[in-house]
Amino acid sequence: MTKDATWQHVPSEDNPADLLFRGSSVETLRSSSLWWNGPSWIRQPEVRPSYSKEPEAELPELKTISVILMAVNTRDIIRKYSSYNKLCRILAYCHRFIHNCRNKKKVGPLETAGILKAENTVLRWTQIEAFSQELSCLQRKCELPRKSPLRSLHPFLDENNLIRVGGRLKNAELSWEQKHQILLPAKHFVTRLMRKDHLRLKHCPPEQLLYTVRQQFWPISGRREAHKVVKECVQCFRFNPTAFDTLMGDLPRERVRESRRHGRIHVSKGYVAVFVCFCTKAVHLEMVTELTTQAFLAALQRFTARRGICNRLYSDNGSNFIGASREIKDLQDFLKKKSSTIASSLAEQHMDWSFIPPRASHFGGLWEAAVKVMKKHLYTEIRSKVLTFEEYSTLLSNIEAILNSRPLTPVTRS
Ligand SMILES: [Zn+2]
Repeated sequence: MTKDATWQHVPSEDNPADLLFRGSSVETLRSSSLWWNGPSWIRQPEVRPSYSKEPEAELPELKTISVILMAVNTRDIIRKYSSYNKLCRILAYCHRFIHNCRNKKKVGPLETAGILKAENTVLRWTQIEAFSQELSCLQRKCELPRKSPLRSLHPFLDENNLIRVGGRLKNAELSWEQKHQILLPAKHFVTRLMRKDHLRLKHCPPEQLLYTVRQQFWPISGRREAHKVVKECVQCFRFNPTAFDTLMGDLPRERVRESRRHGRIHVSKGYVAVFVCFCTKAVHLEMVTELTTQAFLAALQRFTARRGICNRLYSDNGSNFIGASREIKDLQDFLKKKSSTIASSLAEQHMDWSFIPPRASHFGGLWEAAVKVMKKHLYTEIRSKVLTFEEYSTLLSNIEAILNSRPLTPVTRS
């Protein structure tokens, strides 16, 4: 378009065309020397200012380097695994890796100390996440905020920097962990570690779950969390159909009068003999291999040998129990005739045997409730498995322990 020429730049203040772009009045234009004559240096080439640089012969190569910075929160790992045990094991292996990088290598299965350290780490991260404000107050030894849910629990920091319940049980004969539980937030993933206990206690009800968890932890809104864990359990849902409400009759004398533990006992028919104390609701489970009188008598003998003789036995109207009752009576009559010494001791230990009416299981509400809970634990645990005698009796012992460790009254809020 043009001949060989060096193009140069004219700055804006020397450019007459810019007067129009900036917006000038006619009066300004009329008196503007720039508008009519152009910049003064345009007519004097020797004083013409140089505003442009000579282009560089070689441009240096410029490489674009992209840098991405990510803030990684290591605590996110606690949301990555649905199982609390698995999370602790993985963290324990991470701790071991760090240890092995710095010190002599540790190999083999994880030790209890390693798992405990991982558990402490998970709990500390959880508390940092949920109680950051309270944690900083406790570290600075200041008073907690008025609206803090922990304020009424008088929390303190232990040697692992975990927040524990202060409580008012200083003089109680309980272990230190039971008196000063580790605080857990409500609606937090880690609080669902309760599920682990729910499974360990063979799908126990929420009240018992809360009681067990509170031996070590203090979850905020614990009752609601425990109900949630049980509600979300698929196996519990399957074995908990909705029942109709019925009008209940008066409680029998034996249930509302004082008596020695296992003094009045009920037995229920079946391959598992369920003995329930009328006063304390203590449960004893005996495995019976067959539905015969001999097998039942052997079970009764095992029961009395371990728990003591009971004054009175109540039972369903099963044919096996009628047989057992007659045999016990025959045996007692026989022994009475044989020896006056034995007769006197039997009189002291005499066991009365009573039956509820036939096909009237509602007469035995107490033991039917125990049978129901026992069956629930049994079915949810066994499902379709086939157990050996040893496994079966071990499971029954576990269920017995679980039933007997139920809290007798509702667990308190504070
Ligand atoms: Zn369950």
